[in-house]
Amino acid sequence: MPGSEVYVGFDLGGSFLKASSFSLDGELQERHSLDVRGCRKANDYLDLFKDAAKSLSSDKCLKGIGVAVAGVLSLDAGKIVDSPNLPALCGVPILGMLEDAFSPIPLQMMNDANAAALGEYFAGAGEGYESMFILTLGTGVGGGFVQNGVIWRGASGMAGEIGHMIIEKNGKSCTCGSRGCLEAYFSSWALERDAKDHAVLHPDSAVAALDKVSPISLSELAASGDDEARAIWENSGYALGIGIANIMNLLNPECIVLVGGLINAKEYFLPAARKAWEENSFEQASKSSKVIWGELGEWAGVRGAIQPFLQ
Ligand SMILES: [Zn+2]
Repeated sequence: MPGSEVYVGFDLGGSFLKASSFSLDGELQERHSLDVRGCRKANDYLDLFKDAAKSLSSDKCLKGIGVAVAGVLSLDAGKIVDSPNLPALCGVPILGMLEDAFSPIPLQMMNDANAAALGEYFAGAGEGYESMFILTLGTGVGGGFVQNGVIWRGASGMAGEIGHMIIEKNGKSCTCGSRGCLEAYFSSWALERDAKDHAVLHPDSAVAALDKVSPISLSELAASGDDEARAIWENSGYALGIGIANIMNLLNPECIVLVGGLINAKEYFLPAARKAWEENSFEQASKSSKVIWGELGEWAGVRGAIQPFLQ
């Protein structure tokens, strides 16, 4: 619609920059996904942001830009402090660079888990609930807590880092340098490591015969009835359930929304996860905190990124 006003939301991950335009009341209009794997420096990313914004807002008046980024942010400094998926942007004053590029259009930045939380809360599975915890289950594990429409940020924006909650003392080693983190049991990389470890111990197994070890190939093997592939999902699922039990006991949110690529394998991990949260949380907490699935898929973050403009 020529002449209409739009917001544009971005969600920058290690592989793709997702970008969507929204009407001023938050309705999705158009969306694009741009490959960022060729980006080597901050300006390469900046060019993609500018191109996407231009194509989404041609003939329209761009009223605000929301940016979600995969990483630990210091919003005071306008920097990504830590991001295994975006090493070229770590320490770069990306917020100021984006503000300069789009000035005078107002711009908001937040981390991707918080953006996904706001997206699902206001326009997805969390609609109608007062309190919601989101668990993002993919390459890593992230989380975010929303109460009455507001993200719980914590003293320095670090709240909700559920992936690095310790669920087993001296447990499996994690990419963060610690041991026993939830992410070291239930994430794409943890499942791949478990499958490879299994293959070493059981070289004649179907798991060892997989051409490419991934959550997808592991769930295909589970679907074919392979007990060992199923056991890997079940063990990981039980660990996920302990993490969910901890969320229930700590926050007792009305709903816990599970999102991310790994939920496609829910039939293989959910029964074990449910067993774990029922065994490890107070009954009153688990009965009142519903575990549900996200509705916006990988597009929750772009919707959440523009939420500050709608409030
Ligand atoms: Zn960790």
